[in-house]
Amino acid sequence: MSDETNRTCTPGADAPQELNEAAVPKPGSALLVVPRGTMPPKHLSDFTASERRARVESMGMKGFRADQLSRQWFGRLNDRPDTWTDIPAADREKLAEALAPSLLTPIRTLSCDDGQTVKTVWRLFDGALVESVLMRYPSRVTMCISSQAGCGMNCPFCATGQGGLRRNLSTAEIVEQVMAGARALARDEIEGGPGRVSNIVFMGMGEPLVNYGRMVSAIERLTSAAPEGLGMSARGITVSTVGLVPRMNDLARSGHPVTLAVSLHAPDDELRSELVPLNKHYNVRQVLDAAWNYADVTGRRISIEYALIRDINDQAWRADLLGDLLRGHLVHVNLIPLNPTPGSKWTASDPRVEREFVRRLEAKGVAVTVRDTRGRDIEGACGQLAASAL
Ligand code: SAH
Repeated sequence: MSDETNRTCTPGADAPQELNEAAVPKPGSALLVVPRGTMPPKHLSDFTASERRARVESMGMKGFRADQLSRQWFGRLNDRPDTWTDIPAADREKLAEALAPSLLTPIRTLSCDDGQTVKTVWRLFDGALVESVLMRYPSRVTMCISSQAGCGMNCPFCATGQGGLRRNLSTAEIVEQVMAGARALARDEIEGGPGRVSNIVFMGMGEPLVNYGRMVSAIERLTSAAPEGLGMSARGITVSTVGLVPRMNDLARSGHPVTLAVSLHAPDDELRSELVPLNKHYNVRQVLDAAWNYADVTGRRISIEYALIRDINDQAWRADLLGDLLRGHLVHVNLIPLNPTPGSKWTASDPRVEREFVRRLEAKGVAVTVRDTRGRDIEGACGQLAASAL
C-alpha cells in the first residue's frame, strides 16, 4: 500500500437502531429470497423527472422547482442546498428535506495506488454498511458499486457472501454511490485533477440481478441526460452476475445496451456448483445460452469472469474445456487472480499456471486478459468487499 488515509471515521455512538437483520444461506446453497427489510426514505434519484415534478407539486410548490433541483443535483453536481441560488431560499430546505435526504454516510475512506484508487465504506440509514471503489486510470475513471447490503449467493471464495444478505439497496442508494464519486472528481478531491466518472461496474457487494428492478432504474438515472440523470453512456456500464438466467433474459430485452459480465469460474457443473452455488439452479449450459442470447439481442460482447484459484479451477484441461465452450462466440475472458479472503484455504494460481491457462484459451481463439489487482491493499479488490473495515 502506498498510502492510507482514514479521512472520516464516525462509527458507533449515533448508529441508528439496526432495523434489518442479515439472512444467512444454508451451507453450499444460494439464498433466493431477499429479506423484506425497511427501505430508506425516498430521494430524487429514485424518481424520473415527471415523478419528481408530481412530488414537488404535491408539496404545494411549482413543478419546475423539481427541474431546478435536478439541474443542481445531476447537472452541476451540487448537493449543497444553501448554494441553490436559483431556488427561493424558503423552498431550498423544503426540497432538500423531501427529495435529498442523506442516504450514505461515509464512515471510512481508504486510498492506495498514489491516491488513484479510493474505497469508501458507507453507512446506510439502518446501520447497514456497503462499499464502493473509485479507480482512476489514465483515460477513464471506473466506479465499482454495490447493489445489495451483503449477498445471498454464498460463493465460498468471496468475502461479501460470508456475511449473508441484509437487504436490497434502493435505486437512490445505488445511484448516490456514483454521485458521491462524481462530485468528488468534479471538486478535484481525487488525485489527478478534476474528472468525470466514465465507467461503472456492478461488481461491488451483492448480486445485481437479484435486485433487478432497482438496478435497472439506477441504470436509467445514470444514463438519462441531465437534468434527469447523470448522462453517462450505457456502454460504459457493466452488470456482473453469477448467472440468474431469467433476469439475464429480462436485461437483454430491457433496451439498455450495458455490458454483461458472467462470473463463471468453472467450465464444468461439478466444480461450478461448489464455487457458485446458484449453479445448482442454472447450470453452465443454461447460463452460457442466456449469455449468447444477450450477445445476439444487444450486439454486446460478453465478459466471462474467472477467478483463478490454485489447484482448484486452474488445470490445463479446464482451460481447454472453457475454450471449447466459448470459441466462436462474441466473448472475452477476464481472468482474476484470486484475492484471498480472511480465513480462506484458497489462494491465487502460480504465475506459470496462469500463463499456461491464458495460452490455452488463446490457442482456441478466445480473447483473454488478466485483471489488474487495483485496490488489493485496501481490501477493495474483487471479492474483498465485506464492509468489516472498521
Ligand atoms: N454478484 C456478482 C457481482 C459481484 S462480484 C457476481 O458474482 O458477478 C464481482 C466479481 O468478483 C465476480 O466475478 C466475483 O466472482 C469476483 N470475485 C469474488 N470474490 C473474489 C475473490 N476473492 N477474488 C477474485 N475475484 C473474486
